[in-house]
Amino acid sequence: MEISPAKKLRIGWFTFTCCEDSTVIFTEIMNDHFETWRKILDIRHARVLQTKNVLDELDVAFVEGAINSDEQESRLKEIRAKSKRLVAIGACACTGMPSAQRNAFPPELKDKIQFLLDRFHQGERVKKLDEVVTVDDRVPGCPMTESAFLAALEKMLKEFEIPLPEKEPETSEKNV
Ligand code: SF4
Repeated sequence: MEISPAKKLRIGWFTFTCCEDSTVIFTEIMNDHFETWRKILDIRHARVLQTKNVLDELDVAFVEGAINSDEQESRLKEIRAKSKRLVAIGACACTGMPSAQRNAFPPELKDKIQFLLDRFHQGERVKKLDEVVTVDDRVPGCPMTESAFLAALEKMLKEFEIPLPEKEPETSEKNV
């Protein structure tokens, strides 16, 4: 009888307008969790980790950064349409700030940066994710805190009924 492979959580990691520090934290956390995660996570999309990425049916999309243009809005809507759950990562995604500072610029300062907004096809204002799509959960922090991300991930694993693998017994020196 063929043994079916263990079910994994299909995830994507996406970044919009921001400094990507939560992405750095995400990769740093892997130092401690990679061995566990490779058994339970099917990372379909994470440009920071791999060159082959697909945006197909995801269980969870983790999205960092604020939304700055029509093109980003369309991309976020596409991600939302292909994900059962969407989690906002970090303050920029959750609240817009600090990426959205230019929204509060006085008119004379806005005039000074307008040529840049035009050149790079930037929108009138910077938006947090839930101004564009439905957000199911939020991981706060600037950058995100490790504990909040792990709690959000655990919540998703529970929701999709994916158990954490049992810890492998430590090898006794006598048996080496
Ligand atoms: S929330 Fe902070 S750390 Fe994260 S992208 Fe925005 S500015 Fe950078």
